[in-house]
Amino acid sequence: MESLKELYKVGNGPSSSHTMGPQRAADQFKNKYPEAASYRAHLYGSLAATGEGHLTDYIIKKTLEPKEVEIVWREDIVKEYHPNGMMLEALDENKNVIGDWTIYSVGGGTIAEEGMRNSGENATYPHSTLEEIITWCEQNNKNFVDYVKTYDDQDIMDYLGTIKDAMQRSVEEGLAATEVIPGKLNLQRKAKFFHEQYEKNKQLNTLIYSYALAASEQNASGYVIVTAPTCGSAGVIPGILFALKEYEGYSDEQILDALAVAGLIGIVVKKNGSVSGAEVGCQGEVGVACAMAAAAIAFLKGGSLRQIEYAAEIGLEHHLGMTCDPAYGYVQIPCIERNAMGAQRAFDAANYALLTNGEHHVTFDQIVEIMDETGRDMMDKYRETSKGGIAKLFFTC
Ligand code: SF4
Repeated sequence: MESLKELYKVGNGPSSSHTMGPQRAADQFKNKYPEAASYRAHLYGSLAATGEGHLTDYIIKKTLEPKEVEIVWREDIVKEYHPNGMMLEALDENKNVIGDWTIYSVGGGTIAEEGMRNSGENATYPHSTLEEIITWCEQNNKNFVDYVKTYDDQDIMDYLGTIKDAMQRSVEEGLAATEVIPGKLNLQRKAKFFHEQYEKNKQLNTLIYSYALAASEQNASGYVIVTAPTCGSAGVIPGILFALKEYEGYSDEQILDALAVAGLIGIVVKKNGSVSGAEVGCQGEVGVACAMAAAAIAFLKGGSLRQIEYAAEIGLEHHLGMTCDPAYGYVQIPCIERNAMGAQRAFDAANYALLTNGEHHVTFDQIVEIMDETGRDMMDKYRETSKGGIAKLFFTC
């Protein structure tokens, strides 16, 4: 499994797979072929289907500027390896190809060449499943945070500190913002309004909604957020963690530990399943964010290893089958509201698990496998192509 640094990334929204990933790829390609007179980017499958709403073309051109960039939209070509494929070409002055690179944006801003994903190369952690991690913890009398500190980079807790700060900023800036979210949906922000209601009713769920909306609206507007595990689901973890910090008085240190636990859940899914909406639908984005957040809350509230695992399992299990169907390809409807619901559901999942002794029949590892299988069985129109589901309601608008 990879480091938590590969999971939590600070960057601009609105989409980790459609903007952050292509940006990384374009940047690396530019460094490889700085002598190119111009570039061409072929976008395949979901990258082409929702690339415009997700600003894929914009970010590629911006990364490769001042050189000219031709974008070739090929949503009719869906690569078998992953639906978010792209081929970059470097061209000389006569438009001859001097180099090309086929690369995939596999979710959460991670890019991989064919066959290289989860190859085990550069693995930070020696284990691959949550079951193996729990066994390690039990044998060594440790908890999940100890596990992260043992195997991840030495400076991982400092890194999580920068992640916490960036998440907090996205919430604060989102609460202060009032402008309409860019795009033809003309969507009005809601976070500030929800927070004003919290000031009156002082109910935790209102606070959770307002914080989750704030970070999600920042993402939808293209501002800086943290992938957790993706841009589209960037509101769930900040929503619940900062609401609980304020409402129940957790310390900064406890929030960092909670982020470590949540991160562990995220990297297990990245290893054995997927966090790509184009591959497995929204169950891999908001569903996984909910599982991560549920584990973090159960940890904060003193849950055992099994209760934490159960909380994560509940968080994911009850998002099984959730489609990815963004209207016009914008990460706005249903995404923003879905983050608020995901944050609240994480709270419920944790509380439910904590009411038990941690015994349960379906393990987290099993539900990751089921989620992955369910996602791959979904028709393409439900996997970030904006051709079905809620997106359909906007066809004629
Ligand atoms: S519906 Fe879910 S998976 Fe799809 S773009 Fe929105 S947040 Fe991402």
